[in-house]
Amino acid sequence: MKKVYFLLACSAFAMTAYGQKTVDQKVAELLSKMTLEEKVGQMIQYSGFEYATGPQHSNSATVLDEIKKGKVGSMLNVAGAEETKAFQQLAMQSRMKIPLLFGQDVIHGYRTTFPVNLGQAASWDLNMIEKSERIAATEASAYGIHWTFAPMVDIARDPRWGRVMEGSGEDTYLGTKIGLARIKGFQGKGLGNIDAVMACAKHFAAYGAAVGGRDYNSVDMSLRQLNETYLPPFKAAAEAGVATFMNSFNDINGIPATANGYIQRNLLKGKWNYKGFVVSDWGSIGEMIPHGYAKDAGEAAEKAVLGGSDMDMESRVYMAELPKLVKDGKVDVKWVDDATGRILAKKFEIGLFDDPYRYSNEKRQKEQTNNQENRKFGRSFGSKSIVLLKNKGNILPLSKTVKTVALIGPFGKETVANHGFWSVAFKDDNQRIISQFDGIKNQLDKSSTLLYAKGCNVDDQDKTLFTEAIETAKKADVVIMTLGEGHAMSGEAKSRSNIGFSGVQEDLLKEIAKTGKPIVLMINAGRPLIFNWAADNIPTILYTWWLGTEAGNSIADVLFGTVNPGGKLPMTFPRTEGQIPVYYNHYNTGRPAKNNTDRNYVSAYIDLDNDPKFPFGFGLSYTDFKYSDMMVSSSDLKGNQTLNVSVTVSNTGKYDGEEVVQLYVRDLFGKVVRPVKELKGFEKIFVKKGESKMVDFKITTEDLKFFDDELNFDWEGGEFDIMIGTDSQNLQTKRINWVK
Ligand code: BGC
Repeated sequence: MKKVYFLLACSAFAMTAYGQKTVDQKVAELLSKMTLEEKVGQMIQYSGFEYATGPQHSNSATVLDEIKKGKVGSMLNVAGAEETKAFQQLAMQSRMKIPLLFGQDVIHGYRTTFPVNLGQAASWDLNMIEKSERIAATEASAYGIHWTFAPMVDIARDPRWGRVMEGSGEDTYLGTKIGLARIKGFQGKGLGNIDAVMACAKHFAAYGAAVGGRDYNSVDMSLRQLNETYLPPFKAAAEAGVATFMNSFNDINGIPATANGYIQRNLLKGKWNYKGFVVSDWGSIGEMIPHGYAKDAGEAAEKAVLGGSDMDMESRVYMAELPKLVKDGKVDVKWVDDATGRILAKKFEIGLFDDPYRYSNEKRQKEQTNNQENRKFGRSFGSKSIVLLKNKGNILPLSKTVKTVALIGPFGKETVANHGFWSVAFKDDNQRIISQFDGIKNQLDKSSTLLYAKGCNVDDQDKTLFTEAIETAKKADVVIMTLGEGHAMSGEAKSRSNIGFSGVQEDLLKEIAKTGKPIVLMINAGRPLIFNWAADNIPTILYTWWLGTEAGNSIADVLFGTVNPGGKLPMTFPRTEGQIPVYYNHYNTGRPAKNNTDRNYVSAYIDLDNDPKFPFGFGLSYTDFKYSDMMVSSSDLKGNQTLNVSVTVSNTGKYDGEEVVQLYVRDLFGKVVRPVKELKGFEKIFVKKGESKMVDFKITTEDLKFFDDELNFDWEGGEFDIMIGTDSQNLQTKRINWVK
């Protein structure tokens, strides 16, 4: 199952364009000429002023001056060929003439935006995900950006946490594959290529496991769980040559990640032998004071640098404290040299010492961003991210000649909202983004009518627009309701305790349903929402996330059947908030649920159907897929043999379509309790109507390994269930015996 990406560059031994010295030699030579303040300067990252908030930013003139003095190594939130050039000119006035590194949150696209990341994950399409980051990197690098703070590879099992929209969901295997595809996309043919941006695996570590889904909160978990569930995407990223890491706001078992020696020094820079650098999260070094881990700025700087944080993003603690700490003998200068050396190495690798302005290129900025080709891809990617949750009576796909269609709901005419949470808004965004209304209008036949009513706002209690919406629905042959949560309701610092439709949207839906018109419900969200009434009463439901620049066209392509939806949920959808966390790869208890033994959503509540509302991996199609002839190459294996598993998937419906075939494994007994199933492979296939395809998987003992209570990572002989199917609940099983 393992596919290893070999990324170029990032080798400290790579030769640069001029001179025959290795990057390591160049770094050493440069370091030997730098003062302590200049070295610490490389470890400082400030934000561009126009985006910055808070009192510390009132001193912009001072920052400009500090750049000229070589006291700043990197800027974030400075974008555009012209702007980056202007900042770089300041750095080139410094004594050592060390160029600045420009970082930016390029999270789900740049000028052409793509679905929010959780939506992208729903495509289960690694090629498309990689391609989307390739485009994002090309666009961002043309704007002078060297470095993106992505991918976020945090595994998350709690949809109350607002940042689930930025990740790949609850599963370690899927999350790892997607993380690798993103890194490959961002870093392209390797650092130093003009269209590559340095990627950043974040947030190291376990940020997604914040208690109660409350952002920035504590994480208290066993090292076994940490290593098995939360760290693998990071380890894989390090092995694949991700240029940088970012640590996280949370503490892990009482120690803030920012100063966590076990995580950053023992594992990342020790065992994993990682050579890139670690940037703190925004202000997280200084935040160790209110967190209760450092008594003052001096102690925060000391603990952070010793704990492995190489660059201080915006807490302004390193510059104020580090030189003094070194002079007082509290921090050995070797730690400053190590951090600075890692940062300088990246600047060499991306060619900044050859030409500090090479990325700031107005011509590329104009030609390579937001062009038709990128948008075309975005349109297709958007449609592949949509998940069909219900299609009772086959209302979808709609005919383009339906006489009257009513689009109702607060998202119908939104433009910029389709970006989702993470995007740098540009002045012309309103014109660039395709609203749902425009997308549908463009595809409806000229003889048809598209009506629109907002119905209500996203997030208030006002029902005065209901009447107009009901009247509009009555005039229509089919109603498309567009509901959900506001685009800024998921993302950083956007945890919610109630994850239903916001405001009065559900009441609106109930009123419209009373008209008796056929309803297609589209749900706009960055996280799994809870919408039981709609799920039980509305015949047709599409989960449309936030789809980016081409949102309206992507949606219309699916509504009218140009694209047959094939997305699958990358997170379990709960029935109530009280059921959270609920995820597919849980353990059994000694008392598994009796009425549903194959599902085993145990530790049951007495007041709930303990299945989730929609399981992990779930998603329908306009066509039907039938699974048959599941075969295993042997039911008795020994040692390092390989198990071949195959299944035939037939398209028995009326449309060509894509299906994500999923493979799960269960280790029946272990030294420690093992999950009831774990995803170990998947394949996205296209099958024409009336045709069949055989899908093969290979399982090796690598896929059976787990961490035991003493953190040994190995496999055990015994019985295993091999399961294949269309989602994590609808599976066929073969039992095998594998002797060690
Ligand atoms: C976020 C990071 C982000 C950084 C810079 C922080 O608040 O947690 O993910 O990269 O800000 O914008």
